[in-house]
Formats: sequence, structure tokens, C-alpha cells
Amino acid sequence: MNPIELSFEFFPPKTQEGIEKLRVTRAQLARLNPKFVSVTFGAGGSTQQGTLDTVVEMAREGLLAAPHLSCIGSSKDSLRAILNEYRTQGIRHIVALRGDLPSGMGEVGELRYASELVSFIRTEFGDWFWIEVAGYPEYHPQARSPSDDMANFARKVKAGANSVITQYFFNADAYFRFVDDARKLGVDVPIVPGIMPITNFSQLMRFSEMCGAEVPRWVARRLEGFGDDRDAIRAFGLDVVTGLCQRLIDAGVPGLHFYTLNGAAATRAICERLGAATA
Ligand code: FAD
Repeated sequence: MNPIELSFEFFPPKTQEGIEKLRVTRAQLARLNPKFVSVTFGAGGSTQQGTLDTVVEMAREGLLAAPHLSCIGSSKDSLRAILNEYRTQGIRHIVALRGDLPSGMGEVGELRYASELVSFIRTEFGDWFWIEVAGYPEYHPQARSPSDDMANFARKVKAGANSVITQYFFNADAYFRFVDDARKLGVDVPIVPGIMPITNFSQLMRFSEMCGAEVPRWVARRLEGFGDDRDAIRAFGLDVVTGLCQRLIDAGVPGLHFYTLNGAAATRAICERLGAATA
């Protein structure tokens, strides 16, 4: 029994080599007894088949597999068809998102926000799905203001979400404050922190810029100072992220959700340091 519930996020591979690599990754991570695994979805349906195939394969292996589904750029008919397919496949856990349209890609679609997708799922599929939604301890990058973002977040949860996974962060206080503010707005579902292992400086800075997660200056400067020394980056990243997770566990978080980027090593190293039991 793990001291903390773990979940792992993957993206659907595009090549046969990627498919093989992900099989190895999840075999290694399955030994950490995750509560569930999830598979991302490209906005507008670009990974629709890949997400479905990956989720179905994982479910066959005995993992509780949750597809992500984003509504931006999609019609209600196409979303309904995807959800029907998941129901037919016996999938009961889903991560409901708005998504981001790739630049230059046109129509917004029939549902503009994740809250509308959650309502749509509840109206059309009742309680069949356990619904996860996204939370942003450092606020969504397009938010008009923190208070507006929190009100939108609370509306989304109240539309019928069962649980929340947060964007990754390195500042635990932002998460603690986010949870406090959410509770004050009547959000009473679990809010599981999203964890990004650090393995690559330029990739981390690029992702963080896009999604609005702050990399503390001292962390960025240290990582930058390691230059091409990948071992040093990984060792320092392991210390920083394990320290963050330990602080979150000590504060009683309901679980940890790892953005694995389809690699096992960094996530496994952190979980093992935290004392997670392997099967
Ligand atoms: P929403 O909750 O709809 O919020 C988006 C913005 O709209 C916010 O600024 C919010 O304040 C605002 N807003 C919400 N409701 C209203 C309203 N009624 N009026 C005015 N403004 C409003 N992206 C993918 O494409 N595929 C994935 O698989 C994927 N997985 C993710 C998993 C996690 C755990 C997280 C944290 C993010 C993921 N993303 C994914 C990224 C996500 O799609 C983007 O962050 C996207 O920009 C917002 O999605 P959302 O569901 O949080 O949107």
C-alpha cells in the first residue's frame, strides 16, 4: 500500500517506436500501483484515435485508464460520438478540458469552456463517468484576474466534476492558497497537485512559458548553470521535485499526478525516494 495515491499522465505516441517505448514506460510505472493513468488529447481531435487506442490498450492491461477530452474546436456530435465509444469500451474515468486551439486553427466549436463540457457530459451520460477537471494554482494564463479565474474554476467543478488535477507548479504556497480559496468558494472535491519532474532545462522553460507555471529564479539559474551536464540537471531536478512532493505529502494532499512525458525514470526516482511501494 502506497502512503500516497499516484496517477501518471502520458501522451498518445505517434510512431511505432513511441508505442513500444510507452509500453516499457508504463510497465515500469505500473509497478508503483497507480490509482489511474491518463492519456492526453489534442484539441480539435488531432489525437482522437491515438488517445482511444492507448487508453484501450492500458485498460486491457488492467490499469484504470482515463482519456483526456477537450471540447474546443469540436461539435457536440463529435464529442458525443467519442464519449459513446468510451462508454462502449467500458471506460468510466475522464479528464474534461477546454483545450487550446493550435494557432491558425479556426473554429472554437459548440462548447467554449470546460464547464460547458462537464455539463454536457452530465446531461448526456449521467453519472457514467468520473470527471476530473484542471485547476491552476498560479492561475490560467488567459484569466482576466485571479478572482475571475477562481470563480470560473468553482463554476466548472460545480457543473459536475468529481476531482481536480492541477497544472504543475514549483511553489507549494501557490497550491495551498489555491486550495484554501477553492474551499471558500464551496469546492469540496479532492484537488490533486500535478507534478512535473525536471529533466531538461530548455524544455521546462518552454512548457512553463506556455502554460503559465513559474520556475523559481533560483531553480532556473541553477539548471542553466549546469549547461549540457544532463546528469547534474537530473540530480538537482530530483532533489527539487522530491522536496516539493514531500512538502505536499506532509500537508496531506489527496494524491500526486505526474506529468511523465512518456518516460519512467524521473517519475520512478521521485516516487521511490518518497517511499512509494512497488509491486
Ligand atoms: P477552462 O476551465 O474552460 O478555462 C479556460 C479559461 O477560460 C480560463 O482563463 C478561465 O478563467 C476562463 N473561463 C472559464 N469559464 C469562463 C466563462 N464562463 N467566461 C469567461 N471565461 C471563462 N490540453 C489539451 O489540449 N489536451 C489535454 O489532454 C490536456 N490535458 C491537461 C491536463 C491537465 C491536468 C491540465 C492542468 C491541463 C491540460 N491541458 C490539456 C491544457 C488545457 O487544455 C489548457 O490549459 C486550456 O487553456 C484550458 O483548459 P481548461 O479545461 O482548464 O479550461
